[in-house]
Amino acid sequence: MYCIKCGVELQNGVERCPLCGLRVYHPDLSQNGADPKPYPRYTEGAEKVRRGGLLFVITMLLIIPVLICFLTDLKMNGKVTWSGFAAGGLLICYVSICLPLWFRKNRSVIFFPIAAACAMAVTLYVCLKTDGHWFLSFAFPVGGALILLIETVIVLLRYTTRDRPYRALFIFGGLAIAIGGLCMLIEFLLHITFSLPMQWWCLYPLSVLAVVGLTLIVIGLFPALRESLYRKFFI
Ligand SMILES: [Zn+2]
Repeated sequence: MYCIKCGVELQNGVERCPLCGLRVYHPDLSQNGADPKPYPRYTEGAEKVRRGGLLFVITMLLIIPVLICFLTDLKMNGKVTWSGFAAGGLLICYVSICLPLWFRKNRSVIFFPIAAACAMAVTLYVCLKTDGHWFLSFAFPVGGALILLIETVIVLLRYTTRDRPYRALFIFGGLAIAIGGLCMLIEFLLHITFSLPMQWWCLYPLSVLAVVGLTLIVIGLFPALRESLYRKFFI
């Protein structure tokens, strides 16, 4: 059987042509016939998965291994040793991936600092647990600077590029230069914390990132250059 309007082949039992929507009528086939419908009439309602339920299952799936780790560790060593690190890693995964999913709107402006603070707390825990002396003089300033940089980029991208998308070029250009500066800080802090000699390797990434950053900023400054690059590379 074929649709009389568009000619598409129709399965028995359909009421309308799936392509053009024309009502199907065949005098020899009864409309209330025994042919089963080729697809269920209402599918949309049944396919919706409840978000909260799914997230609850994921949360449970993460809590159970943490509990198993703690119990095994306590049974073997009588105190929390390695299970704290495992729990910390899973906590970072949960806060950075699953926590934002509990909320309908994905606001990275808020969730990124939460995940970053959580990662810093776990790092501090690892430092204290391993009797390290590197948190305050290395991990905290480097991690803090990186978190501040990324958060600034997130905020700027969200609030300044809505009607002028090319401003992202300035933001990423600035980010590249700032990461180059961060490399200098990292080398300096490695020197202070771990007594590594200053070899000035930081100047290599700094110079490359400065060139990349300045290029992005120059492209952003000249509308004609932007236009021609856009036409050439669709960026
Ligand atoms: Zn049709």
